[in-house]
Amino acid sequence: MTDAGPAPRPMLTDEQYEAAVEKAAAVSGRWAQAMGETALAELVTAALAGAGFRIPPPAPEPGLCGSQLPDEYGAWSQCAGEPGHDPGDGHDNGEWSWPDDSPEAANP
Ligand SMILES: [Zn+2]
Repeated sequence: MTDAGPAPRPMLTDEQYEAAVEKAAAVSGRWAQAMGETALAELVTAALAGAGFRIPPPAPEPGLCGSQLPDEYGAWSQCAGEPGHDPGDGHDNGEWSWPDDSPEAANP
């Protein structure tokens, strides 16, 4: 018997995430404008993470390893390693690290 570890949180589609941001903006009205798009998206992302969902990862920054992992608030963080480095070394964003087979990671 193999231990596959905990199942990854389900990942929303781009459409589902955009709809969530739109709904949040609609009920926030002027607060959304005052907050700005970035803060509103962070709020929605954190709420979704709290509810047990991952949002779709952004396109990885070029020139770095493309592996990404969401933090506890759902924000994706990219590995700072060289592109194509040995996945057996795991991935590291400079603050924390994750194994290549992490169920929550998005790998190119
Ligand atoms: Zn990496």
